[in-house]
Amino acid sequence: MSVWDDLPGQSAVIEQLRSAAEAERPTHAWLFTGPPGSGRSNAARAFAAALQCEQDRPEDRGCGTCHACHTVLAGTHGDVTNVATEKVTISIAEVRELITRAQDRPSSGRWRVIIVEDADRMAERTTNVLLKAIEEPPPRTIWILCAPSPADVMVTIRSRCRPVSLRIPPAEDVAELLVRRDGATPEAAGYAARVSQSHIGVARRLAHDEEARERRSRVVSLPLNLHSVSEAVVAAGRLHDLANDDAKSSSERRNAAEREQLLTALGAPETGKLPASMRSQVKQLEEDQKRRAKRAVTDALDRAMIDLTTFFRDVLTLQMGTSSELINEQIRAELEQYASNTTAESTLKRLDAIGETRQRLATTNAAPLLALESMAVSLL
Ligand SMILES: [Zn+2]
Repeated sequence: MSVWDDLPGQSAVIEQLRSAAEAERPTHAWLFTGPPGSGRSNAARAFAAALQCEQDRPEDRGCGTCHACHTVLAGTHGDVTNVATEKVTISIAEVRELITRAQDRPSSGRWRVIIVEDADRMAERTTNVLLKAIEEPPPRTIWILCAPSPADVMVTIRSRCRPVSLRIPPAEDVAELLVRRDGATPEAAGYAARVSQSHIGVARRLAHDEEARERRSRVVSLPLNLHSVSEAVVAAGRLHDLANDDAKSSSERRNAAEREQLLTALGAPETGKLPASMRSQVKQLEEDQKRRAKRAVTDALDRAMIDLTTFFRDVLTLQMGTSSELINEQIRAELEQYASNTTAESTLKRLDAIGETRQRLATTNAAPLLALESMAVSLL
């Protein structure tokens, strides 16, 4: 095994990172880009592990078995800082704190590595503060920034980073990972990889969570029952509820797992009351979890709209006769009927309406339910 095992479909990136980790002095600033779900933060962590790996021979780095590899992948290595925004933006104060940390020499590893998972979620002023740090980092510090695409970060940052671009992995590679690593059945894995359009995180959840599968099916079949404005309003409300349920269910699962991990790490007693010293750390965790709940809802709404998009993409595929493969193969008959009752032109308009609503919800403070209602009406 190695740290590169769980990066499906990214052999070119793995080659690039492997040889960088072997170098005596790797580039000190990196920009990892790739669409959501392609595994860019996993790739960043794998690279950090390879940089810290304890193997003697440089070509063996990223072994996946030494203490450094283990702790980096688990997120507990003292010299690797991982910043993942659960909020809408990364604040200037957070970036200043990172920069201070970047000045420290590594304590046990070869490098101090700072991973910023959402480098695109920064205001321009914040980016400028970061820029100075990236231009003149201390000799043993390596920055790894991640963003969906190079265009999502300012050109001044981009030009100072070495690019690593992940591609959308083929669905069969994602399915293979779900079977091998997570023990999914080949059928569930194949379905999940296809309908998630190779989004690894979403696919994993769909492969294992029947309720998530059920919610997705309900989202995708919403357009089948749209005939009047009042039905559109009902459908928007349903979409809103499904996304909220989805966010709640995924947060609950994650929150419980995090709490358990923290208690194990603290060495908490299995039963009885927690000692006061531990209670404050648990409370801190609970506050972090509350703070990211809003982001979870926004993400779930966006995901629901992506799922809705797959309905119309399939309809368009049928109308254009371009390919025989549908994303939502399981409702082919319904899709064929819908496609025969509408035109490709109207399908394109509907796809635009969903795209615009996604954009609106991502970039403005529009009230989600109202935005969904006006979207649903334009799907009539
Ligand atoms: Zn190792």
